[in-house]
Amino acid sequence: MTPTAPQWVKNGWERGQHVEDLCMITLGTGVGGGFVVNGRPWHGVLGMAGELGHMTVIADGRACACGNHGCLEQYASATAIRRAAIEAANSGTSPCLAAAREQDPGLSARTVHTCAQAGDSGAHHIFAAAGAALGIALANLINAFNLPMYVIGGGVSRAWDQFSPAMFQELTERSIVFRAGEQQKQSHRATEVKPAQLKDRAGLIGGRASSYDHATWALLLPRSVGLSNGLAALTQTTGTAQKSKRGGVSPRVPNSSTPKAQPAKKLV
Ligand SMILES: [Zn+2]
Repeated sequence: MTPTAPQWVKNGWERGQHVEDLCMITLGTGVGGGFVVNGRPWHGVLGMAGELGHMTVIADGRACACGNHGCLEQYASATAIRRAAIEAANSGTSPCLAAAREQDPGLSARTVHTCAQAGDSGAHHIFAAAGAALGIALANLINAFNLPMYVIGGGVSRAWDQFSPAMFQELTERSIVFRAGEQQKQSHRATEVKPAQLKDRAGLIGGRASSYDHATWALLLPRSVGLSNGLAALTQTTGTAQKSKRGGVSPRVPNSSTPKAQPAKKLV
């Protein structure tokens, strides 16, 4: 029997967290996402539900390949972080990134995270900007759907310590529904926003356990990866997927606190 979405919620992403409705946002090369409603993936009439990377977060912002301007993907993806890192290195606002280019000419998001954790303000600002954009998107999603859980996955989610304070600040300021939930924590009606337990591996693991069920793939994979590419990746990395069930759910980071810096981990 093919596992259903809620089994993944219970057994894969958020072990011990039993929810039937959630939204997941994946921060990878692009930004993707998906919804589980009443325990099942929500596809939309065109099968295009979950194009969260193309939510407008800045009205006259950076042009996007989708034809819009100011899409979330232009600010919170690994691609956007690399682009901002190169700009910061060139402009002299980040000495750490400028020096790191000798070892990492492309300035990966992992390198930006390392510089940010080392105290480089330019690198930190890149993640703060990504977090603010993500907070705007989350505020709209939470106001619209009032789901109990919003999970942030993908490789960039490993930089949670750097982007989540700005994300929660923006979210708290903009979402009346999120603030209302915060006031009702004791009745377990608060909106949970947390990093995905499996980070950037959720798609591969979900796809394997669902016996290549296309509905689950469509939900779990970043849209920029694409279904066919994702299936190809699965066949090439089955061993990795089997070994990747590790780590725990990080505690929620209050918007008013400064999270403790964690050792750098691999980003996209
Ligand atoms: Zn777009």
